[in-house]
This record gives sequence, C-alpha cells and structure tokens, in this order.
Amino acid sequence: MPLDDGSVASFYATRKKVYPKSVAGLYRRLKWALLVLFLGIYYLVPWIRWDRGPGAPDQAVLLDLPGRRAYFFWIEIWPQEVYYLSGLLILGAVGLFLATSLLGRIWCGYACPQTVWTDLFMWVERLIEGDRTERMRLDRLPMSAGKALRKAAKHAAWLAIAAATGGAWVFYFVDAPTEIRSIFTGRSSLEVYFFIGLFTATTYLLAGWAREQVCTYMCPWPRFQAAMLDVHSLVVTYRDWRGEPRGKHKQGETWEGRGDCVDCRACVAVCPTGIDIRDGQQLECIGCGLCIDACDEIMLRVGRPQKLIAFDTLANLQAAAVKDKAPYRLVRPRTALYAGLLVLVAGVMAFGLAFRSTVELTVLRDRSPLFVPLADGAIRNGYTVKVLNKTRSNEHYTLVVEGISGARLTVVGDGEVGADGTDAVLDVKPDAVGTFRVTVRAERKVLSGESTPIRFRIAGTASNAVQSSIFMGPKP
Ligand code: SF4
Ligand code: SF4
Repeated sequence: MPLDDGSVASFYATRKKVYPKSVAGLYRRLKWALLVLFLGIYYLVPWIRWDRGPGAPDQAVLLDLPGRRAYFFWIEIWPQEVYYLSGLLILGAVGLFLATSLLGRIWCGYACPQTVWTDLFMWVERLIEGDRTERMRLDRLPMSAGKALRKAAKHAAWLAIAAATGGAWVFYFVDAPTEIRSIFTGRSSLEVYFFIGLFTATTYLLAGWAREQVCTYMCPWPRFQAAMLDVHSLVVTYRDWRGEPRGKHKQGETWEGRGDCVDCRACVAVCPTGIDIRDGQQLECIGCGLCIDACDEIMLRVGRPQKLIAFDTLANLQAAAVKDKAPYRLVRPRTALYAGLLVLVAGVMAFGLAFRSTVELTVLRDRSPLFVPLADGAIRNGYTVKVLNKTRSNEHYTLVVEGISGARLTVVGDGEVGADGTDAVLDVKPDAVGTFRVTVRAERKVLSGESTPIRFRIAGTASNAVQSSIFMGPKP
C-alpha cells in the first residue's frame, strides 16, 4: 500500500518469536489439571472396551464407517439417526456460546485443542531447552553440536507426541488393539497411514511452529465470539485504576501518588501470545490467566494486594475506576437464552434416546403398475417394505395393514400371513434391514377414490413403528 511519503507499506509483519516463561499459580495449576484430563480422555478412550454381545464391536467409542454405525458405550447410532450427532454438535455450540458469555474466552484459554497441545509442546520445549532466558540465549548462539542435539531432541519429542496424536485419532475409527499391531507390522491400509501422517504433520506444525499464530490469524472463533460477550462477561483485565501510574519501585519507597504496577513485565514474559494485557482488551488474549499468576507473585513480593490483573467484568472495571461496584450478573438475557436453548436441545436428545425405537419401518409403493385390477373385481397394490432391526437378536415382527376395511396382505417370498390376512410375520436378522415384497388386496367399493390412505404398522409393545402410504385404484 503506497504511503504519503511515497514508500510502500507491507501487509506482512514478520513474526516475533514468543518465549513464554514458566509460571506457578492457581490458573497454571488449573490449566495443568485440564490438560491431563483432556489428553487422558483423547488418548485413552479408544482403549475402553464395552461388551455388546457376539458379532458386535467391543470398543466403547467407535465410528465404524464401513459398518455405517457410531457406537458410544451403550448407544448405537444408525445412519438414519444421524440427527443425534447433529444434536451433539448443536449442544457443543450452544454450550460454547453460554460458556463464552459467562466466562469470556474460557474455551480458548483452557480447552481448545490448539491451546492444550501447544501447552504440552511448550512444556517439552522447556524440559529440553530450558526456560525463557535460556531458550532466548540458545537461539542467539551460533549452531554447535550441543545446540543441534537439543534442537533435534526437541523436534523428535514433538514428532513422537504428534504421531501418538495422529494414531489416537485413527483408533476412533477402527478397533484400536487390532489396528495398533497392524500399524507396527506394516499391515494397515494406506488410508490409516495417510491419516496418521496427516494428523502427525498438522499437530507438529500447529502446536510446535504456528502456536499463537493459529489463534491470532487462522482461527475464526476470536472474530465472532465478540457477539457472545458483553460488559458483564468475565475477561482477563488489568485494573489500571489501581496500577497506574506505573513505574519501578525500590524497597522502602512510598506507594503514595503512584500505582501498584512496578513495570516488571512479568505478565508479558509469561504470556503465550506475547501481548501486554496492560494495553487493554486484545484479540490475541486467549484468557488463559497466566498473567494473573505472574502478577500475583510480584504483588506478593512487593507487599501489595494481589489481583492487579484479574478475571473481572468490564462493567466492574469501569465502576471500580469511580470507586463503585458492578456485581457479577450471572443471569442476563443472553445467558438465559443460551441456557434455555441448551436445556431444550439436551432435553429433546435425552427424550429421543430414552424412547428410541429398536425397529424402523419404511414402505415404498410400486409405481409401475400403479394398481392391478383382479378378475374378481378387487384391486391389488404392491409395496416394498423395509424393516430395520436395531437389536442384536433375530426378531419376528408383525406387520399390520390398517385404514382400508377388509384389506388383505400377501407377502411375496419369506413371511407368514395371519389367518384373517390383515397381518404378516416378518423375520429380520439381528442388526440388519429386512426387505420384503408385500401386496395388499382391497375391494373396489371400499376405496375412497383414486387414492385411499393406508397405514402399515409393526405391532408389538415396544416396537410401534408406523408408516403411512396410499392405495391406488381406478377413477370412480
Ligand atoms: S494476556 Fe494474560 S490471559 Fe491473555 S493470553 Fe496473555 S497471559 Fe493469557
Ligand atoms: S506483572 Fe503486574 S506489576 Fe509486573 S508489569 Fe505486569 S501488571 Fe505490572
């Protein structure tokens, strides 16, 4: 872009490498605890077994794409029930909206995979290359055998974690104990190696190299989360009314006429995105709270009250500046709306799962011919009936035809018709779809016109699947 003085401004800014310093404190401990919990869940869940009986996979969580099933412990989702997965995604999205409107960027700071894996990679980096000052010094040094060894060890460790991450991802789609043997003996499919390679590369690049740049430049979430935040959301704030005017402070000097910030920059040194929270709210701030821990330690050392940097609402920050208070408001129109939506979607899903049918019925009417006039004056229509047996046992379903007086069922091939011809017993194998050709015969005089409504039903206590269709006849 040309500037007034004739020079050209570049849209590209060279990245300033961030060297976050280690810190101890409440928020750091919370981050460690959540990191262990989330990584533990991610790596270990594919290894949990769940007995579903003979012939069924015994992996508790499995997305079986070839078998077209999703297994979550005792729940088995068929392709026809993909709305449960959509419901889960809606629950996740609304939950995220609610958490953001209450606690600001809690997701970014504590639960986002980018944050969790970056934190893990930084911990490995610190173990091998040392803390902030040592890492900065190492990077300034010319290449030597010692430096090359440390860098190689770090990248090897990063790659090992990245490969374990890619491997764990694949285990959600295949039987983990079987697949791990195949992977190491070279007998896995090309797809498996491709996806492990893909996730190894993305984890290594995003958590090892890109780090804070993913949050700042690549992720869309910081851009539109502003729509969920208001002045009553909890965000990491620097209490400038208390901290300013800032400046160095020597032991024994008075605190009169100055702020509590001793301008030590400890909050900047620990920040994983390299920003200065004293400059106010910034897009780069992921709300991790590590600057709070760093500043609390400094305040303790200089004998001033802690929480110069704190999780607070912007409303309270403004009120405190004029010696007032704006109490935290948990219930606000947006939090009530998100909580209501969350309860509604969760309720609908819980209800759907609790009363989930173990059988589904689909009926397709023959298009050609539309109907067949019989020699005795009656009319016959043909239908293809599909019965989906979601249980693990062989089932005998009773198909009933309703809506047309005196209508008689016939099953072409397998299937046993009852004595009065209004029902038929259909055998369906476990965990399978049974397809049957069925004809219905009705007297012409009982039809209500060219098209008469008809209903097919699977009779039985818990399996009341119903499908409406029409019975075609000649023009009256
Ligand atoms: S400013 Fe503080 S809360 Fe924000 S990213 Fe940096 S350390 Fe985390
Ligand atoms: S850590 Fe606290 S005292 Fe030090 S510069 Fe940051 S806000 Fe000021």
